[in-house]
Amino acid sequence: MPVETLRARCEVDGCEWCDRSDLPCRYCGGTGQWRPERPRRDAAGVIGWIRVLEQCRMCGGTGREHNPL
Ligand SMILES: [Zn+2]
Ligand SMILES: [Zn+2]
Repeated sequence: MPVETLRARCEVDGCEWCDRSDLPCRYCGGTGQWRPERPRRDAAGVIGWIRVLEQCRMCGGTGREHNPL
């Protein structure tokens, strides 16, 4: 599922990482998105790789550092 904008907060209530803005997420570089590759088999049975766009799981799509989550 594509993500167009950064989320204001992750899904953790009262998350203290969301209250600070000094550190960008080290996994997505502050974009809140990451682009992993997924294996996919085409009609001929050949397995290829496709790029998908996902919300960064490490920061909950906020683009802020959340380690340890
Ligand atoms: Zn948070
Ligand atoms: Zn991130």
